[in-house]
This record gives sequence, C-alpha cells and structure tokens, in this order.
Amino acid sequence: MNQAIESPAFEAEVQQLVKNQRAYFMSNATRPVEFRLKQLKKLKALLLQYEEEMHEAIFNDFGKSKYENQLTEFFPLIDEINIAIKNLKKWMQHKSVKTNLLNFPAKSYLVPEPLGVTLVIGAWNFPYNLSLTPLVGSMAAGNTTILKPSELPVETSKIMAKIINENFDPNYLHVVEGAIPETTALLKQRYDKIFFTGSPMVGKIVNRAAAEHLTNVTLELGGKNPVIFNKDAAMKTGVKRMIWSKFVNSGQLCIAPDYALVHKDVKQKFLELAVKEIEKANFSAENNNFVQIINHRNFDRVVGLIDPEKVYYGGTYDRKDRRINPTILDNVTLDDAVMQEEIFGPILPVIEFETIDEAFEIIKRIEKPLAAYLFSDSSAVKERFLHEIPFGSGAINDCVMQVTNPNIPFGGVGNSGMGRYHGKYSFECFSHFKGVLDKPTVIETNLKYYGYNEKQLKIIKALS
Ligand code: NAD
Repeated sequence: MNQAIESPAFEAEVQQLVKNQRAYFMSNATRPVEFRLKQLKKLKALLLQYEEEMHEAIFNDFGKSKYENQLTEFFPLIDEINIAIKNLKKWMQHKSVKTNLLNFPAKSYLVPEPLGVTLVIGAWNFPYNLSLTPLVGSMAAGNTTILKPSELPVETSKIMAKIINENFDPNYLHVVEGAIPETTALLKQRYDKIFFTGSPMVGKIVNRAAAEHLTNVTLELGGKNPVIFNKDAAMKTGVKRMIWSKFVNSGQLCIAPDYALVHKDVKQKFLELAVKEIEKANFSAENNNFVQIINHRNFDRVVGLIDPEKVYYGGTYDRKDRRINPTILDNVTLDDAVMQEEIFGPILPVIEFETIDEAFEIIKRIEKPLAAYLFSDSSAVKERFLHEIPFGSGAINDCVMQVTNPNIPFGGVGNSGMGRYHGKYSFECFSHFKGVLDKPTVIETNLKYYGYNEKQLKIIKALS
C-alpha cells in the first residue's frame, strides 16, 4: 500500500482495503475448514522458508540473536500454528450444552462463527510473535485480517509485509506498515474485531476508536509485574529462574518481573544470588544474550529510572550501542521514579517487606498487573496469593514460563488488558459463539401459551 502519511489518498486506500476484505468475507470463502487449514499450512511453510531472513531482520533491528529469536519468537509461533492445524476441526464443532427442563425436549449448543474483518496491531518487543500469533487465531477462526506490525523494528515489519503481501490475497490478509498516522487512519474504519498489543495509554485510544463502531476488542497491555520472594522460598533455584525472566530480551518483556518484593530475612541472600546469576549469565553480544534497547528514546527513558544512589549492582550503559547492563536497585520505595511506571528494561528494583500482608498491600496499591509471581514453599501463602492478588497470568516458583503453555490463556485484567488468547483461546478470541436452542416439532408442550392458570404456574415454578 501507498504509505502516504495522513493523506486522504492513504485513507481512501485503507477504506477500500477494508471494503474488499468485507466483500471477501461475505462471500463465505474463508469459512470452510479446508480453506483455513490450507492457509495456516501456507503461512507455516512461508515462515520456515523465510526463517533465516527473519532471524537476520530482528538481529539488525535490536541485536536479538538467532538463538533467542528461535526460543522466544519462532518456536512458540510455529507451535501455535501446529496446534491450530491439529485442533481446528475439533474447535469448529458445535459445542453441546445442557437443555433446561423448561425447554425439554430440545438440543442446545454453541456454534462458533468467524467475526469478519479483523485488525491486528502489534507491539515491537516480540515483533513476530505479537503480530503473527494473533493472526494465526484470526485465520483459524475464519476471518480476514489486516495486520499492522510495530514500526519500531523496521526490518521485522518489512519482512512480515513481504511474506504476507507477496503471498496472500489482500482481500484475505494484508500487512499495512506504519506508525501513528497510519494506525490512526486504520482505526477510523469499521472492523468486526480489533486485537491490540501495546501500552495501556495507546490501548485507550484503540478502545475509544473501537467504541465508535461497537467493535469487539482484545487489549493485550502491560503493567508493573511483582515478584515476591517470601522467607521460605527456595532461594537458589528461585533467583536463577527470576534472573533469566527479568533480563531476557533486556527486560523488554511485558510479563517480565518488574520489581521484586523480598522478605527482610532473605534479602541479603537474594541480592548475592542475583549478582551471582547475572555474572554467570555473562550478558554480552558475543554470548548472544544481550539484546539492545529498541531505540534511543526508550534507552533514555530506562536510564532515567536508575537512581545512582540506589544502585546495588550494574547501573552502567552504552548509549551508542543502546545497551544497559543488568542493574539491581536496592532500598527502593514506592516514591522512587522506577516505581512510577512500567520499567520495560533491565532494571530490577528491590523492595524489602516484613510480613506477607505488607507485600500484598504494595501490589494492591499499583494497577492490576499483567503477571505476578510468588516464590514460596508455604501452601498457606500460595493460597492467599492466588485468592488475594489480581493478575492476568502468573506462576508459583517460576516466572514468565506460563506463557509457553498454550493451555493457559494469556491476557491481562483491568489496566493490563482485556480478553485472552493462545492455543484454543486464540480461536475463541476471534470467534463468536452463537447460542442455539434446537427444538423438534413432533412434541409440543403447552406451558408457555396463553390461558394461564394456577396449575400451569405450579408446573413452571417446579421446573424453574
Ligand atoms: P505502544 O502502545 O507504543 O505501540 C503499540 C502499537 O500501537 C504499535 O503498533 C504502534 O504503532 C501503535 N501506536 C502507538 N501510538 C499510537 C497512537 N497514538 N495511535 C494509534 N496507534 C499507536 O507499545 P509498544 O511500545 O510497542 O510496546 C510496549 C508496551 O506494550 C508495554 O506497555 C508492554 O507491556 C506492552 N506489551 C504487552 C504485551 C502483551 O501481550 N500484553 C506484549 C508486549 C508488549
């Protein structure tokens, strides 16, 4: 598409694209299971064909190595396609539900149907995964899709546009590249579903635009994810797991632990183990585990959150190379700058607590997080964590790995988002389930018809 910025010509092109996709959807072409499977298999084959170019593109964008890209983007994406291909027929079946006595005899069931024309807007930090995984859900559910990847990783956006736009009918799938003006033009159109991944701030803009047309929305947003280390935690294993989760992708991960709440009795041990694990990981470009910060704007923002007086470890950076060394801040309070926003970078603030109530109180003072983590061996504390702390998804004695289980839905709550996806939840996310009561005509009950009387009322009461 012509990427003219905020031009009436671009808006007209977008309008025509949506119109064409709607006509294609209305033709029923995307509904048959055979069509959906064929397109999913085609997408998988293309991704495998372009695998090397995709690795190269993301490396050029922000120094993400082939190894990390394979582990955190490519493999989960291919896995999502495989799951959809394997289960699609089952997902598309009518789902029987019980019929109540009042409607007896009848069958009741839910019929999944595609929503129509969908718009998927991706974020930059896992550019393939966060653009193409929702796309897989949209395709499996039988929709047409317009995909707008994040503009920040320029090369990954380009390669996704190339793979899709050169190989799929634009009336079915099309990538529109661009930044705010292009997304604004896209959002003026009417869709049947908008799936957005990004910040809560932009999520509100998207939600407002969707409200104009009463469009169904899924918002995959972010927040400040707590990790608690209680005094009874298995510290060595726990800190090792947490350090990987915090610093993978240089902390640019929406479900990374944002800040650590550590019991005072184990804090010193926590800090020592954390330093040991960071040094063992030896984050460096040579080791393929030191991703760059996406751009200088974000680099400056993250560096601005480091209070030199609170640095326990790290605190150093290289602006030219856009790399920030893993940093631990100690004795942090809720008033510190680092606690005022989602960090989205390799800084771990540590806050000490004395009682678990105190830790829970801190979490509840901040907006509902996308993820929360607890390290503890106490069943009572685990139970309280599960029942008292709101979060999108989480883990006990681990961090981040819940996202790799496609049977666990992925999504936020409150300020961290609405809706969920992954695995069968992606199919559900892009479908509407029609509720149907299916009555035979050979038998007729007279309860509902006029000529009301006491006997009829008694029967209805008994059946309700
Ligand atoms: P962002 O909100 O700045 O951008 C996301 C998308 O919105 C991009 O495609 C961008 O082009 C578009 N956009 C930006 N400003 C816009 C505007 N004013 N109007 C219309 N469109 C606009 O987010 P980001 O910087 O790409 O990603 C970081 C944020 O995303 C963090 O908050 C992070 O937690 C969150 N995130 C959430 C998930 C999740 O799955 N829940 C995953 C990754 C990132």
